Amino acid sequence: MSKKKPRPIPVPAATIPGLIDAHTHLASCAGEPAALVARAVAAGVDKLCTVGDGLAEARMALESARELEGVFAACAIHPTRAGQLDAAARAELTGMVADPACVAVGETGLDTYWITHDPEGTADLETQEEALRWHIDLAVSAGKALMIHNREADAELLRVLADSPTPVHTILHCFSSPLDVAREATDRGYTLSFAGNVTFRRNEELREAARLVPAEQILIETDAPYMTPEPFRGSRNEPSLIGHTALCIAQVRGVDVEELAGVLSRNFDRVYGL
Ligand SMILES: [Zn+2]
Ligand SMILES: [Zn+2]
Repeated sequence: MSKKKPRPIPVPAATIPGLIDAHTHLASCAGEPAALVARAVAAGVDKLCTVGDGLAEARMALESARELEGVFAACAIHPTRAGQLDAAARAELTGMVADPACVAVGETGLDTYWITHDPEGTADLETQEEALRWHIDLAVSAGKALMIHNREADAELLRVLADSPTPVHTILHCFSSPLDVAREATDRGYTLSFAGNVTFRRNEELREAARLVPAEQILIETDAPYMTPEPFRGSRNEPSLIGHTALCIAQVRGVDVEELAGVLSRNFDRVYGL
């Protein structure tokens, strides 16, 4: 009787045609990229952006983007690992970002959560900020979108973005900040990308942000293998599960999910320069 209930095996929502996944990590999900993409396609996903957040992962992301239909790459060094951004890494990333298969510089940004929880294993804030500024300059010079990771660093991030050159598009991935940050970010023209945590019962304020963001500034993502949407929270995530997040956002915005998918697809193309 006291046995813990096993976690359900996640299944996609009913197939929703024309879906996108603006930020995922194919290299970190369970299985081969081709199989993950095939399952996503079966769930209606047309296009996805896979993120390499270290040099090895960025190489894999580019390889998937070159080989698989509808797959695009983003390349950068994650803020928590910003100490790895040495001269050789900068040279290699500059080459990767010039590749047509790479549509964004990211994920870069600021993360104070891991500085607090794992100070030994995490780059300090000064190192993170210096790396962020380098990635911003790279996005600007390459003419590609900037994809931002922000964990508990709202004020610092808004300050750095405001006093830096402006990339063609700035995406705040896995947007999880309060409403005033959502308003400031959309006023500045940034794109907010919502992940599975928008479906979590307690995240009412996040759903309000998803309701308020202008239609041309919204994206959705799995951030797989993390952030699995309800009703499968806690299980392993993958791009085929994006439909659950799409259904939640369509509901809060009061639109059909097919209509939302069309809006998101056009935003994906514009932001990633397709
Ligand atoms: Zn992130
Ligand atoms: Zn990510």
